Amino acid sequence: MSDTFVNPYNFISLPKDDDEDVKKFRKEYAEGVSEKKSLTGKLVCHLIPRTEIIIPDHEKKGKRKEYDTKKKKEVDYDEYPFMTISEQPMIPGSSIRGMIRSIYEILTYSCMFLNDEYNFSSCSSNVYMKSPLDLLPESLHKCKEKNSLCPACTLFGFVASEGKEALGSRIRFTDADYISKEAPEMKTILLPILSSPRTSALEFYLRSERYSYNADTVDEKGKPAVELSGRKVYWHHSEFNPDELKGEQNSELTSYMQYFKRVKEGEESKFEFEVYFDGISERELKQLYTALTFGENCANGSFCHKIGHGKPLGFGSVKVFVDKILTREFDIKSKKPYVIKEMNIDEEPLAISLPPELEKVADFKSEAVQGQKIDYPRLKKDGESYEWFSKNRLPSSNKYEYEYKSKLPKLPKKSEDSVAQFRDPDRAKRNREQENSNEKNKPNNQRDFSIGEQKKKNKDNSKNIGTNMGDF
Ligand SMILES: [Zn+2]
Repeated sequence: MSDTFVNPYNFISLPKDDDEDVKKFRKEYAEGVSEKKSLTGKLVCHLIPRTEIIIPDHEKKGKRKEYDTKKKKEVDYDEYPFMTISEQPMIPGSSIRGMIRSIYEILTYSCMFLNDEYNFSSCSSNVYMKSPLDLLPESLHKCKEKNSLCPACTLFGFVASEGKEALGSRIRFTDADYISKEAPEMKTILLPILSSPRTSALEFYLRSERYSYNADTVDEKGKPAVELSGRKVYWHHSEFNPDELKGEQNSELTSYMQYFKRVKEGEESKFEFEVYFDGISERELKQLYTALTFGENCANGSFCHKIGHGKPLGFGSVKVFVDKILTREFDIKSKKPYVIKEMNIDEEPLAISLPPELEKVADFKSEAVQGQKIDYPRLKKDGESYEWFSKNRLPSSNKYEYEYKSKLPKLPKKSEDSVAQFRDPDRAKRNREQENSNEKNKPNNQRDFSIGEQKKKNKDNSKNIGTNMGDF
């Protein structure tokens, strides 16, 4: 069994109701609910792929015949073209909206929708009497009523689960058009079919100070011993080389491979989209701006989003920055009913601080994973990941508990001077350089918090989660 791994994703911890920062944010938010929501206008945004991106057009799925030398016959593969409009690549506004909303939810401690990935019942009903929703703090349950909405539902819109109540969105995302002069380079790549989320990866989706998980047990203080790990986020692969991924044709697994069109990374693949806002507050604009840019508004900035297909493999890292902000105001002096004003982005203190965990994962060149291979844990090279997961589970004396050898380490939560540094990319860079050189001088076992942690032989050491990881 391989000792170390950097899993493609980790989790941003869920906000705790008794956390001082969370309490302060929610208090301010509650006080500001009635604040003036008078800003109307649009943000013109640019998007630059930092690794190749794949936005498959599922409606135009085709077939591609390739000769399989092993089977000695032609084989059909599915083939997905890149989304296009007028024969130019484009990224649907709905995809961009989803990408931005997920960051906005993290920034504003908003409600959380538990999708199928969090459905554990199918894999181990005898262990989890509780549903994932039972493990989600009440304050993060999906909003139910129009007059008590979380910040994300207030801005992005809300539909009650019964569909009776709804609140329209006050922001609208356009599709992102390809705006570079050069013709887009769209090469095809053969990739393994990515498995649907592995609900069996309980040791990743759940967190416990113990190595055995049972959602129904409580700790010494009477609190649940198991909690949800949080919101799933993918690491960026800063040294991504898609050619190393090329799927093996002519293998037994032919039917598990698909072809995709991809768009090259770099400034030559620039996209542009707009975010229209109507009747939002200054606070909401700041939060939206930060969700778009991570507070670092430059083309070569380090804080990136992930979009499209193949995120765990390394595809889809994109840098978004705001080119300009135009507001539309009613002006009594001029005869025109509205004047369009351009907001000076440099002077406006627009950015709000990022949670340290998000800062680690959103950093394209995060020192947390740099120089390491990011891949699902496997027993051997090219082995199947599910084999690792089944080997990772140990029989336990208690039939209602499983024990796990390895878990994901927690992302570090250190507070930093983040508000100021994000307004000055150079300063952020200097800070990072400084931090890097400090990191290098530390003993090795304090650095690799991204690496999967191996169970200690001595159980008493299990308290040291996230620190003592250098000795395997
Ligand atoms: Zn909500």
